[in-house]
Amino acid sequence: MAFPASKEPIIVMADVRSVRVHLQHYDRHLAQLEELRRLLHDQLAALTPATGGRASRADRQVADIEAALDRMDRERYGVCTDCTSFIPYEQLLRAPHRLACDGCAVPPQREASA
Ligand SMILES: [Zn+2]
Repeated sequence: MAFPASKEPIIVMADVRSVRVHLQHYDRHLAQLEELRRLLHDQLAALTPATGGRASRADRQVADIEAALDRMDRERYGVCTDCTSFIPYEQLLRAPHRLACDGCAVPPQREASA
């Protein structure tokens, strides 16, 4: 009934492969994070040139972006504050400073036009 001797190699191979897949996912995740960090810095650079009086809107955007960079540094970035799931990369690409996923976020236009 029991298989003799050779049960271990298959399991070991599967483990090695899954570890490698995990590392590949992790590498890709890091690359995506770097891309998002670059995006945030670009947006920050585009906002900071002093545009005189009309500060409030740009100031808030700068604060949002700086908060996002801060979350990255503390490894809290990319998690929805409402449902605590990971925010999909495509959604972060659209708005790298976002705090909530599409499912939880309320589009700002909607409350303005209501
Ligand atoms: Zn959510």
